[in-house]
Amino acid sequence: VNEFELIARFFTRPSRERAGVGDDCALIDAGDATLAITTDMLLAGRHFLPEADPAAVGHKALAVNLSDLAAAGARPRCFFLALALPAADAAWLDAFSRGLLALADRFGCELIGGDTTRAPPPGPLTICITAIGDVPREAVRTRGGALAGDDLWVSGEVGDAALALAAQAGEAALPAAHLAAVRRRLDWPQPRVELGVRLRGLASAAIDVSDGLLGDVGHLVERSGVGALIDWDAVPRSPALRTQPVGRQQDCALAGGDDYELAFTAPPAARAAVLQAAAGCRKPVAVTRIGTMTTTRELVVLDASGAKVETTRHPYDHFAR
Ligand code: ADP
Ligand code: MG
Repeated sequence: VNEFELIARFFTRPSRERAGVGDDCALIDAGDATLAITTDMLLAGRHFLPEADPAAVGHKALAVNLSDLAAAGARPRCFFLALALPAADAAWLDAFSRGLLALADRFGCELIGGDTTRAPPPGPLTICITAIGDVPREAVRTRGGALAGDDLWVSGEVGDAALALAAQAGEAALPAAHLAAVRRRLDWPQPRVELGVRLRGLASAAIDVSDGLLGDVGHLVERSGVGALIDWDAVPRSPALRTQPVGRQQDCALAGGDDYELAFTAPPAARAAVLQAAAGCRKPVAVTRIGTMTTTRELVVLDASGAKVETTRHPYDHFAR
């Protein structure tokens, strides 16, 4: 069974809550507010190299959780930190905690608990964060609200993190400036928290792009019971990615993963408001219309000539390889 079949078969149960297994966050009504709760685990050797900059690891461990909160339109409130450490390495912990808490402070997200345990050496060192945010009850947003006819949007640019991994593996050659830029995207992802909040009431559905644009839009399509038609030429790519052969551009941008951008849908009438929401962020974020939601229940990518784009890489699945 693959990762998503495994979750569906063994861990999906009827839920009383607003959203649960199968969405970016669980959504739990609590008075006038709805709490958005998400958890993500990072393992050394799986999600980051054991020799990676610990400050970046701390940053990313929280960033991937804040990215799920952003999808739900929630404002980060607090988080739990669970660690399994093969050794108590003070230098590593010092840098890790600085990276982690700098991001937490940026979003006013307080560390309120956790658990610390020794992993039998050699590990792997494991970090698990559970983040909690809140959103007004009437503004909750899931992966499931897209309607046929809605526009499909994506924030920022996609594919750079995958390109950084390809460069690291010696599969892609990049000039130093481009290499530094894509490595930054891989190691220091910037969760689109403010955009997520500003899209309250505008976006009909959203998901954060963590496993590759197609795979994640695929989840959104499935939960919404619609289809999507994506225009490949509109998919936003960085100057670094655009220097690559088109096949690699498509693999990285469509199936790459680790982008932590938001893919979201909104009715065409909201176009100007969506652009305004993105431009109004303290640090303005680009948003690009990349397609349309359809009634077909299929996810199709077309290039400028009208030919179907097929990627050779599959969206990220922990048990597929
Ligand atoms: P995301 O990339 O947004 O963090 P994932 O792809 O990791 O989401 O997980 C897909 C969905 O399955 C999420 O709703 C997540 O909460 C749920 N999920 C993953 N693993 C489990 C599990 N072991 N038990 C219950 N739910 C799970
Ligand atoms: Mg997610």
